[in-house]
Amino acid sequence: MSGKIELPIDLKELCNAFEDSSNDHRYYLDLETGGITLDFLDAAEREELDEMVDEASKERYRYLPNAESKVGNKDMEEFIETVKGAKLKEKLHIAIARSGAFKRFKNVLTSYPNEIERWFKFKDVKIMDHVNEWLEEEGIEIIPQKPIEIREISPLEISDSKEIEESWKGFCARGCLKCDSEEGFKERYFVISRCPDSEEEEHWLDETLKNKFGIKYQGITAGIFNDSRGLINSAVCRKCGSKDIFFDF
Ligand SMILES: [Zn+2]
Repeated sequence: MSGKIELPIDLKELCNAFEDSSNDHRYYLDLETGGITLDFLDAAEREELDEMVDEASKERYRYLPNAESKVGNKDMEEFIETVKGAKLKEKLHIAIARSGAFKRFKNVLTSYPNEIERWFKFKDVKIMDHVNEWLEEEGIEIIPQKPIEIREISPLEISDSKEIEESWKGFCARGCLKCDSEEGFKERYFVISRCPDSEEEEHWLDETLKNKFGIKYQGITAGIFNDSRGLINSAVCRKCGSKDIFFDF
């Protein structure tokens, strides 16, 4: 195969998806945006969706492998080799010899706090290995995400926007959390090109909004544009100057 698919994937989100062992969850990677979608399904829906995505997957979506294949018996066996106590070792071997191995294995470890901690760390490394293997197999290369862009948007622009759903437009400052005033707020809104995906980015966003625009934001609403963009709302109470304002519909 020539050329890798380069995508700005959130690696933390991808690892979480690989780690999610719930049977009703199905994850898909969007090969156009690098976004990860989670679907909640019952058995019938799952079958139907799997078939559909199988057909479409060649073009746009990749189905993330399910939990069973992520952390398997091989990983548990490898961990057992690192356990020092002979008695615990034996218990773990017995636990994984039958069906429901993963659950039994974890149940045994629950009584050994140090060992379960060690298992979680071991598992994180294994998950990262599985993620990297999978990316390799699929020919996907993770590239850095684009920096977040921030643009101020006026309330008028919001109410005129055809991209924003009508029901969302009644969302505004309702009350001051300091002086209880219910009116007289100076509201400001900002569109961000995507939501922050790490603590560092959240910190960067806090600082940028504070230093560049002089605001403390009350919240980010994702999904109102039906893409990766988010809307930030902030307000100042004209009565007492507080920036802790309650927003609602
Ligand atoms: Zn106030």
